[in-house]
Amino acid sequence: MSRPPNLERFDTMTNEKLRIRRDIASMSAYTPTTSLEVFAERLGVAVDNLIKLDANENPYGPSPRVVEALAELPNMQVYPDPESGRLREALSDYTDVPAEQILCGAGADELIELILQLFIEPGDAIINTPPTFAMYSFNAPLYHAQVVDVYRRADFSLDVEAIQQAVAQHDAKLVFLCSPNNPSGDLIAREDIKALLELPATIVVDEAYIEFAEGGSLANWVGEYPNLIVLRTLSKWAGLAGLRIGYGLFPRALMPHLWKIKQPYNVNVAADLAARVSLGDVDFLLERVRQLIEQRQRMEVAFAELPYLSPHASQANFVLNRVSGMSAEGFRDRLARAGIIVRYYQKPRLEDRIRISAGTPAQIDRLLEILRALANNEL
Ligand SMILES: *Cc1c(COP(=O)(O)O)cnc(C)c1O
Repeated sequence: MSRPPNLERFDTMTNEKLRIRRDIASMSAYTPTTSLEVFAERLGVAVDNLIKLDANENPYGPSPRVVEALAELPNMQVYPDPESGRLREALSDYTDVPAEQILCGAGADELIELILQLFIEPGDAIINTPPTFAMYSFNAPLYHAQVVDVYRRADFSLDVEAIQQAVAQHDAKLVFLCSPNNPSGDLIAREDIKALLELPATIVVDEAYIEFAEGGSLANWVGEYPNLIVLRTLSKWAGLAGLRIGYGLFPRALMPHLWKIKQPYNVNVAADLAARVSLGDVDFLLERVRQLIEQRQRMEVAFAELPYLSPHASQANFVLNRVSGMSAEGFRDRLARAGIIVRYYQKPRLEDRIRISAGTPAQIDRLLEILRALANNEL
C-alpha cells in the first residue's frame, strides 16, 4: 500500500523537531483488519464478490430492529448519557450482574485500555498468554507496563503453573486471559481460572466470544471474587462491531475509580440505542449465533478432511487450522485471489496457522468449493 506523501515527510523529520514521546516514535505499528472496500480495491474485485472471514465479524449484521431504530435516531445533537444508565439496566438483565457493577465502553477494546490506566504505574508488569488477542499487549507500552509473555502449551491450554510463577516473580498486577481464546477458540478450564483467582493479581477474562461457547461464562463469579473482571462485547454475537459497544463486569470496589477516569461520552448515542435494541431482540440474535455455530462445526469437519488443513476444536465463531504442504501465508494469498479473506499471523506459534471465521451457509459453501479445488490443484 502506498502512503500519503505528507506522512512520508513526517517519517523523515527528526524526532528532535517533532518532540513526540521517543518510545512511541520507535514503536512498530499494529495492523488491524481493514474494511471490505479497501480489500476489494487492493484485490481488484467487486465488494459483492468478496467473502470476508478474517475478523470474526457477524456476516448477518445487526438485528433488523437496530437498523430501523437507527434510521430514526433522535437527538444526535445532544451528548449521550455518560452513565449509559438504561443500557446498563438492560445488560444487568442479560448478564444477571447488578448494573452498579457494569461499565460500558466504545468496544471492549476501550475497556482493556481503561483497566491498564487504572492499574498500571510505570514499570508494573502484566501477564499476557500468547498466542492470544493482540490488544492486551498492544496498549501496554503506552502506560509503560512491562508485558510478561507466558506462552500457552502446544495444545493452546494455559500453563497455570508458569503464570503463577510469573506473577510472583514480576509482582504482576494484571493477568489477561481470553476465553474462548482468540485465535485458538478454546475455553479456559474453570479450575484453571479458579486457581489463578487465588493470586494477588486481578484476573481479566475477555469473553468476547462467550455466546458461541457451550457454557463457560464467569459472569456469575464477579460478585464472589474481588479480583475478577469479565469483559464482553456486542461486536460479534450482536453484529455491532462497527458501532463500537462493549462492557465490563467489575468488582464493586473498582467501580468508583473507573467512573473517575472513564471519558464521559465514550459511548455514542447510536451505539447506546443499538445495544439496547439488540438486548430486546436476544432470541432472534441467538438463533443466528446458533446458525454460525452450526457452520463452524461444519467447517471443522470439512477442514479435517482436506489434506492440507488440521483444524483446532473451537468454541467460538472461527476455526484455527494448521496448514501443511504449503506456507500459511501463501495459502492466505491464494484464497484472497479467489475472493476469500482469512487471517494469517506472522507471530510465534502461529506461522503455520490460518484462522477462518464462520460465515453464512452460502459463504461456507463457496469457501469449501474453493478449498476442494485447491486440494485438486485446480486453483
Ligand atoms: C473482537 C475482540 C474484541 C473486540 O471487542 P470490541 O468490543 O469490538 O472492541 C475483544 N476481545 C477479543 C478477544 C476479540 O476477539
